[in-house]
Amino acid sequence: MSGMPALQLSEYAVDFINEDSINGLLAGKRPDAGRVREIIAKSLAKQALSVEETAHLLLADTPELNEEIFEAARQLKKNVYGNRIVLFAPLYIGNKCVNDCSYCAFKRSNTLAIRRTLNEDEIRQQVEALENKGHKRLILVFGEHQAYDPEFIARSVRTVYETKVGHGEIRRVNINAAPLDHEGYATVKAAGIGTYQIFHETYHHETYARFHPANTRKGNYLYRLDGLSRAFEAGCDDVGLGVLFGLYDWRFEVLSLVTHALHLQERYNVGPHTISFPRIRPAAGVSLDEKYQVDDESFKKLIAVLRLAVPYTGLILTARENAQVRRECMSFGVSQIDAGSRIELGGYTEAGDAQVMEREQFQLGDIRSLDEVMRELMTDGYVPSFCTSCYRVGRTGEHFMEFSIPGFIKEFCTPNALLTLEEYLVDYATPETRDVGERLIAEEIDRLPEGDTKDLVVKRLQAIRERGEHDLYF
Ligand code: SAM
Ligand code: SF4
Repeated sequence: MSGMPALQLSEYAVDFINEDSINGLLAGKRPDAGRVREIIAKSLAKQALSVEETAHLLLADTPELNEEIFEAARQLKKNVYGNRIVLFAPLYIGNKCVNDCSYCAFKRSNTLAIRRTLNEDEIRQQVEALENKGHKRLILVFGEHQAYDPEFIARSVRTVYETKVGHGEIRRVNINAAPLDHEGYATVKAAGIGTYQIFHETYHHETYARFHPANTRKGNYLYRLDGLSRAFEAGCDDVGLGVLFGLYDWRFEVLSLVTHALHLQERYNVGPHTISFPRIRPAAGVSLDEKYQVDDESFKKLIAVLRLAVPYTGLILTARENAQVRRECMSFGVSQIDAGSRIELGGYTEAGDAQVMEREQFQLGDIRSLDEVMRELMTDGYVPSFCTSCYRVGRTGEHFMEFSIPGFIKEFCTPNALLTLEEYLVDYATPETRDVGERLIAEEIDRLPEGDTKDLVVKRLQAIRERGEHDLYF
């Protein structure tokens, strides 16, 4: 790291990933069925699991116990989140990068990459295109570069919020960018960001060092591990963890994610808002050995175990996965997906359906339109939601609100999901999707308990459908 500026760490910065302890747990003997069932019961009672308990779920490997784990994950998801799935889209702002992560097409040594940073007009054009499809939530994605300092990120966020077309507006902007210092987080927080995501990629130290050269910013393991702790200390208490699956043993990574989540919970009293679990995808100028590739069965298991380990953390399944895998994995506890995604710079207006490897970070697996994905979700009985009301009315620490107040989901989340869905159906859906959606809404209304909330939901749905009213929420 010589020649690089001293980096600021959080107040209690510590490397809390103890490999010996994690490896010890993974080398333990298979738990008996009784123990596995006890752990499942704890999770179904909505208690977070310890790292050791999570390891036991990972070690359980009979088909029968695995099926019980899958079923429990489905059940827990229903109990905690209902049948809502939150939808968002990624917006890549710039792919200049000073790092050299071997798996990423944006790495500085990739001379094939076409480098580009969207200017404010270009951001507006992309946002208008996204709004015209019906999106309300975005995640802005940045390479790591001095040009993408906190002021630049904050300006991009403001530009997104200010861009409105027709009834379209973006109501929540999340960020996936490099770790910042305290001041940097405060700057982006002031622009009204939602979740700040940093994926640790791999928690295994030696593997981390292999993929992230020591003479780069990202080569500093502790600075990245500590990144979200600094966010908390700077007042951003809404953060997202992630691992890039395929770099190292997936079981080790799951236990490390849980360790990280528990560390934040203990230190800052709030766990991560979301966990992402991208699997490595082919990318221009990248060739990787496949030793740690995660097959579909293991992928399902890792999602189910994460669901059980951290009941109150949202799980994000991205369009890196193909449509079939996404459909299958949805029920194991996923709460958010992106749809209609394009990841080439300017891709929402310029690229069409052709994916140009030199222009994107990796290849997507699912490039179906938002409308098509929504139709499939609704056909499978999910309620796609664009709800952002908690953040907007200041119900902050909303994971606390959402999950700990009895009846909160029925009183707020389901009604708001239905209202935002109706808006989408009226403004943006194809006739076929609208039919499926209206039928689903009618079924959901039937399921709501009789009372004032139900009456009000029915009235508001009518107001949207018949009088074109917008932005009604509880
Ligand atoms: N540059 C920032 C960073 O590295 O944290 C943020 C943005 S980076 C564009 C977002 C994430 O994409 C990375 O954290 C990594 O997990 C993921 N990624 C990189 N290369 C990938 C690949 N070939 N396949 C799938 N995901 C990849
Ligand atoms: Fe840069 Fe992020 Fe890609 Fe690494 S993963 S090369 S930091 S954009």
